[in-house]
Amino acid sequence: MPYAFVAEATLGKLARWLRIMGFDTIYSPATPTKEWIEDKDKTRILLTRTRKVKDLSNAQTRIFIVSDKPFEQLKEVIHSVGIVPEDIKLFFRCLRCNIPIQPIDKKHVQRLVPDHILETHHLFQTCTGCGRIYWPGTHTENSREVIKKLFE
Ligand SMILES: [Zn+2]
Repeated sequence: MPYAFVAEATLGKLARWLRIMGFDTIYSPATPTKEWIEDKDKTRILLTRTRKVKDLSNAQTRIFIVSDKPFEQLKEVIHSVGIVPEDIKLFFRCLRCNIPIQPIDKKHVQRLVPDHILETHHLFQTCTGCGRIYWPGTHTENSREVIKKLFE
């Protein structure tokens, strides 16, 4: 089952990591209000550090995040929700727009990425929302290492 999240403003780094891992994650620009939360899809899991928000009574599942460190916060989410490595789709969605990225032919990215990237990479993906181009680089490897450590 794919999990979807809504993270409050103070959890930006956590939200970014959840997107890196492929999870649909809405990120609140400010402190969430009762209305803002209730307006969202009720199937999303709310990630919050605010006790007041936690105590609001509606049906949405919520996880109260304790740690200040993004890596520890990720662990809290993984353990609370029961995420397993098979749930993770690394670099599946745009980190900026939260929508799934699409494969794009190399010939269409020629003026959009640096020459050295074009020479050393063959697989590219793009976001239909913001037009950003993605390719498997060292950033992907670093992310894989971090995620591996989460499950050790
Ligand atoms: Zn985008």
